[in-house]
Amino acid sequence: MQEMVTLNGGCLCGAVRYQWRGASVSATYCHCPDCRKATGGPYTVGVRVDAAGLTICSGKTKGYTKIADSGRQITREFCPECGSPLFTRGEKYPGVVWIKAGSLDTPELIKPTHQTWTAMAVPWAYLDKGLRSFPRDGPSPGEKIV
Ligand SMILES: [Zn+2]
Ligand SMILES: [Zn+2]
Repeated sequence: MQEMVTLNGGCLCGAVRYQWRGASVSATYCHCPDCRKATGGPYTVGVRVDAAGLTICSGKTKGYTKIADSGRQITREFCPECGSPLFTRGEKYPGVVWIKAGSLDTPELIKPTHQTWTAMAVPWAYLDKGLRSFPRDGPSPGEKIV
C-alpha cells in the first residue's frame, strides 16, 4: 500500500492556493523551449500527479493553450494576478496534471526522477547525469517512472 501524500502550494501573490492529495508523485525536469519561456528559467520541474486529487482552495487560474510538438493541446495554468506558473495539463495525458515544483510550499519534498527534452537544454542548465534522460519528449503516457 502506498503512502498518502499531501502537497500544498500557491502562487507568489497568494491569490491562488491549492492542495493535492494522492498516493504517489513523480517529478521531472523538462528542458523544452516552451517550458523555458513559460517559467523564465532554464527548465521547469513538473510534479506529475492525478488530476482528481487536486483542489483549488482559493482563487482561480487562467490558462494558455498551445498545440505541442505532438500535435495535441497543452494548457499551462497560471495566476492571473501575479503570473506565477502553477499547472500544466496535456491532451496526450488525460487525468494527469503537472504541478510546478517551485509553487509548492515544501518543494524539498520533491525528488525529480528523470529529465525530458535534454537535447534542447541550454548549456548552463543543471543536468543530473545520474537521472534517466529523454533527449526528446518524455515517457509514454502509460509509463510511470517513480
Ligand atoms: Zn498570484
Ligand atoms: Zn517542457
